Amino acid sequence: MSRQRDSQRSKLYAWERQYVDGRPTWASWAERHETGKHPKMTLAECQALVDKVWRNYFGPGPTPPEVKDGRGSRRALAGFFHISLPRWARTRHSVLHEVSHSILDRSGYGDLAGHGPSFVRIYCELLVRYDGRKLGELTRSARASRLKVASPSAYEPATRWEKEAQAHDNV
Ligand SMILES: [Zn+2]
Repeated sequence: MSRQRDSQRSKLYAWERQYVDGRPTWASWAERHETGKHPKMTLAECQALVDKVWRNYFGPGPTPPEVKDGRGSRRALAGFFHISLPRWARTRHSVLHEVSHSILDRSGYGDLAGHGPSFVRIYCELLVRYDGRKLGELTRSARASRLKVASPSAYEPATRWEKEAQAHDNV
């Protein structure tokens, strides 16, 4: 598989630190990590969140990725089958970041660059839905950080989620 250069990666991380995680520097990140200000989830809780997102997105079809203990690794990793989470990554938004990668892998959404416009769109949508964030604020800050964000119309999830919400409303 050919991969495009992941040209948005460092911008994405910087935006994430500033606007998603609210940790503007690596030093303050380390501090928060140590003081435990970001509540850590258990692996089972991370898996439950992944399952929920996956089922809402894909329906009962494909099996959700399995969450693995990535203790000791510097990076969290995500793919079609697995999501590996070091301890620091066991927070809601980190899990949502990784599951966004898995969704992209599974859907074959085209821009294979890891943190490209499709990734930012899916990640923002998940943050809204599962982390109580505001879409306008996220996309505005992302664009101000010179990240490209794919248009919502390119994405099934919004439609899917809307339908799902309507189905719930109709019950
Ligand atoms: Zn990533």
